Amino acid sequence: MSAVYVARFAVFRRQVANRTGARLLSLDTAKSLLFFYVLLKSTLRIYRHVRARGMVSSFQDTYNLVAKRFILLALRLPHLKQRVDSQMLQARVDIEKKLVPSGPRVTRHLTLPASGQTPEWIEAEMEKMDTEMGEDANWRHGKLSGAVYHGGEDLEKLIVTAFQRYCVSNPLHPDVFPAIRKMEAEVVAMCLRMYNNPNGAGTTTSGGTESIIMAVKTHREWAKAEKGITAPEMIVPISAHAAFDKAADYLGIKVHTIPVHPITRQVDLKHVKRAINSNTILLVGSAVNFPDGNMDDIPALGALAKAHNVGLHVDCCLGSFIVPFLDEAGFGEFPEWNEGATKGRVPLFDFRVEGVTSISCDTHKYGFAPKGSSVVMYRSSELREHQYYLNPEWPGGIYASPTMSGSRPGALIAGAWAVMQHMGHDGYLESCRSIVATARRIGEAITTSIPELYVLGNPPSSVVAFASKSKDVNVLEVGDLMAKKGWHLNGLSKPAAVHIACTRLTIPLVDTFIEDLKDAVREAKLNPAGKGTMVALYGLGNSSPVGPAMVGKICTAFLDAMYKA
Ligand SMILES: *Cc1c(COP(=O)(O)O)cnc(C)c1O
Repeated sequence: MSAVYVARFAVFRRQVANRTGARLLSLDTAKSLLFFYVLLKSTLRIYRHVRARGMVSSFQDTYNLVAKRFILLALRLPHLKQRVDSQMLQARVDIEKKLVPSGPRVTRHLTLPASGQTPEWIEAEMEKMDTEMGEDANWRHGKLSGAVYHGGEDLEKLIVTAFQRYCVSNPLHPDVFPAIRKMEAEVVAMCLRMYNNPNGAGTTTSGGTESIIMAVKTHREWAKAEKGITAPEMIVPISAHAAFDKAADYLGIKVHTIPVHPITRQVDLKHVKRAINSNTILLVGSAVNFPDGNMDDIPALGALAKAHNVGLHVDCCLGSFIVPFLDEAGFGEFPEWNEGATKGRVPLFDFRVEGVTSISCDTHKYGFAPKGSSVVMYRSSELREHQYYLNPEWPGGIYASPTMSGSRPGALIAGAWAVMQHMGHDGYLESCRSIVATARRIGEAITTSIPELYVLGNPPSSVVAFASKSKDVNVLEVGDLMAKKGWHLNGLSKPAAVHIACTRLTIPLVDTFIEDLKDAVREAKLNPAGKGTMVALYGLGNSSPVGPAMVGKICTAFLDAMYKA
């Protein structure tokens, strides 16, 4: 690069030295000018990247990148390649053994049956499939983090009734299914009022990820139309959901990943500020975040967004129907498990904060709607317009669609609407009260009676993440031991930790959880085996610069196994 630069500069100097009006406009001069323009642009890109990431992190990134290339190259050497390949094959086999049932009892249905089966046969076959992987397949034991948010039989019946009635409906045809159109509009309206923006606008989507992809797309189009931004960038806390990286990947947007404060677990505002430039379209904050359930400082992010005229998306996918009820449920104050973390009253996090332009709220999490239901909301209907896809010239007819899908399941909208009507304000208030009380008991117990562990930050709502402060206890091993006791928890990295998202199913099990956790810590300390899945996977991820690439290969094997019939 620098050799090219010097050569080009020499040509340019000669041109300037012999300058005459005509010569300056020559092809060569134009080439030089173009070259410097490109050089300037890439220098600016690098400068902005380094400014956003910081000097030290940028050096680390570069070092990791070079080391990764080098090791990946080395792994192509025949004997190393053979070893990696055989280990990956082993991992693939292990994953398939865990996911795909096998044995003489298993019938594989790989081609259409020659003639149709009876409903009785189908039900019997489903019963068989539910049990052929063993006890583990039953979620009703409740030892889960998140995953099933309500699971009460009354609500299940209600959802099935709504499904039955609107089984074939599709909001793509509002003239054929007017009730579905009305219910969708009302689900959005109820959420907008819950998040204090009755005059705003929104749509339903298939889930938190789609809500986030839509919000990012909307801000990309908005920034293009209003500010002429063609190389969009967004600024995302490292604690934000992976859906933002996925959106950026799909939509061609550069992401500046910003670290969080190690104690508060809130995004570092100084870093956010430094990363803002003229290509910024969107800042992101979580209320609350997935990994450790802490809440970013939304009012401060709102002030930054407003000052720079950029968007601010608040991800309330997990906060959904909990965070808006905290205050009324008597949990309006942060817990005090960590000195130096957030304290006092939980600040505003919704549209009452100036600068917040969009919010995602998952009806299918603490809203208890059937899976496949979420809402994305905007400050104004003008902003929502940028979400729409319009194609007036399609030969198949004038086409207009609000979200990613074309046809959509009206049954899910009816299910969400029915659940929200059934729960009502009181129902959600009570669910917030009992679920957050459970999370607070767990956090309290870890803080006061498990000295080897500490809670990350002061999480105000339903998620509690714990890490180890003792060098004799590997928290991922604790996670593996909890799995042996039947708990499905989530492993986290940076730092290594384990979390539980409390749901209605956790409430009756809170004492069991605390006792199991104490036991698991004791066992991990006495008998560190270090062989479980969490230890292996997360250990591999942090083992070397190519760790993530190797974990990526295992993830691919996992996704492949999902489609093995
Ligand atoms: C679950 C979650 C999402 C994504 O939601 P999906 O419904 O799984 O697509 C986004 N953000 C947070 C904080 C979440 O917890």
